[in-house]
Amino acid sequence: MEKIIVTSALPYAYSVPHLGNFVGSVLPADVFYKYLKMKGSDAIFICGSDQHGTPIELAAIKKGIEPMQLADEMHETIKSLFSRLGCTFSYYGKTHTDKNKEVVYELFNALMKNGYITPTEDMQAYCDIDKRFLTDRFIEGTCPYCQGTHARGDQCDDCGMLLTPMMLIDPHCTICGKKEIRFIKVKNLAIRLDKLQGKVKSFIESTSQNNWSKNAINKSLGLLKEGLKQRDITRSMKWGFDVPVDGYENSVIYVWFDAVIGYIGITKELGDEYVSKYWKGKDTKLIQFMGKDNIEFHTIMFPAILIGSDRGYALPYTIKASEHLTSRSVKFSKSQGVGLNIEAALQILGADYWRFVLMHLYPETADTEFSIEMLRDIVNSVMNDKIGNLVNRVLIIVKNNASLLDSAEGMVDIGKADASISKIIASYTENFDKLNIREALADATALAALGNEIMSSKEPWMLAKNSPTDPRARAEFQDVVRKLLRIVFDAGVLLYPFTPFAASKVLDYFGIKGMPSLDLLDSDAQFDTRKHVEILFSKITEREMEQLKKFENKP
Ligand SMILES: [Zn+2]
Ligand SMILES: [Zn+2]
Repeated sequence: MEKIIVTSALPYAYSVPHLGNFVGSVLPADVFYKYLKMKGSDAIFICGSDQHGTPIELAAIKKGIEPMQLADEMHETIKSLFSRLGCTFSYYGKTHTDKNKEVVYELFNALMKNGYITPTEDMQAYCDIDKRFLTDRFIEGTCPYCQGTHARGDQCDDCGMLLTPMMLIDPHCTICGKKEIRFIKVKNLAIRLDKLQGKVKSFIESTSQNNWSKNAINKSLGLLKEGLKQRDITRSMKWGFDVPVDGYENSVIYVWFDAVIGYIGITKELGDEYVSKYWKGKDTKLIQFMGKDNIEFHTIMFPAILIGSDRGYALPYTIKASEHLTSRSVKFSKSQGVGLNIEAALQILGADYWRFVLMHLYPETADTEFSIEMLRDIVNSVMNDKIGNLVNRVLIIVKNNASLLDSAEGMVDIGKADASISKIIASYTENFDKLNIREALADATALAALGNEIMSSKEPWMLAKNSPTDPRARAEFQDVVRKLLRIVFDAGVLLYPFTPFAASKVLDYFGIKGMPSLDLLDSDAQFDTRKHVEILFSKITEREMEQLKKFENKP
């Protein structure tokens, strides 16, 4: 049987992910993975926290703690937030582990042996007070382009230009604040992407037809056209894995290298048998979700490592890169004190609301704008009016008129799917199989809309009222509500990947616990009229609106 590995780009363990990060990779990957499991696929879902890199090292120095402590604390926070958001990973791991280090060294050594690693030399800033090299955020100064005084060693936030430490005017060390900085020549190691260009090119040409998103294809072809260049895989800093060869004691493995390999390292943490079964299995499809900023790491660098090391690990099969969820009116990230990150979001509304709204707005093919008003409209008019109301009205009508349905001990048989229902289900599975995930959500919503149409055209409450005196009305009542029950039940199944908590509530009325199988769509089921019917979704309250508006940009 075909095996599938679903991955989401690893969140950086420096801060709590914001809504744009969440909808960019973890959420669609989780939704898709749930669909695969409902379909009965042999799949695992791997993600974890990316723990190395300069922002974490510098933040730890400023707090006076070890980077590992900071990265592990943030990892636990992010992990529990994802769990509250209903994400069901096979394993949510992290990159700073012995298992990941093993895989990193295995691939590093193989690349070395196969001639794809080469020494490099460049000038690096060194602080004589702290006795260490200063990369990225460890060095600041005046921007040579805009004269802004807070330009970092990698970028100027004022004008957005990319910089190197040597370009900074009058630089100082951000640890000690002093200007005792020298530039010294250092050795590092780089992967010869230039030498791997031909193999990476054939990989992309032969694989990109497998439902790759257009942005991933275009970006990768553009990079190949420019020509791949060698790229450093070690860096002169302290926080990271040691370089496993002599002469590079001042450096560690570059964070990007151990982060992409982390997909395998995290699987190894789950169990060596998962690595051999999935990563080294014959019939494996690796489906990777990420934001568009991460395309290059997944279509060029990760495959180049796997091809160059030739250790038999599965190459990516599908690359699904999202565009950005943007917002002019709402602060997403915490840089200005407040930000609507996933932690703040969960304090206002439950997980299903965020999952549904974000997937409704999923920036699958173009940047998409988010606002509080949009959120309110989707919750009120789609979740509440279209889906929640239908479910509640149908179940209450059936419950109150169970005697008209020849029910046995309160159990009412639901009808079979007719052509109108089957057509929507077929579209849903087709869209999911092609990774058109937002379209699949639209199909689930369309099923509820079909129920609403039947409700208003057939008026089952009138049929129920006329049933005692009119046998034809009673027969029609039975037909109509059985079909409506089928729609409610099937909507529960189709919505499960998107709103697992609410969908479970719906399916529970029919005696189904846990993750539903898609086979249920063809099976008989019974509605238990003895169960208390609860509200599925509510409209956003004034109070919730006020809490949300705290995250708006002040004009
Ligand atoms: Zn600047
Ligand atoms: Zn210093």
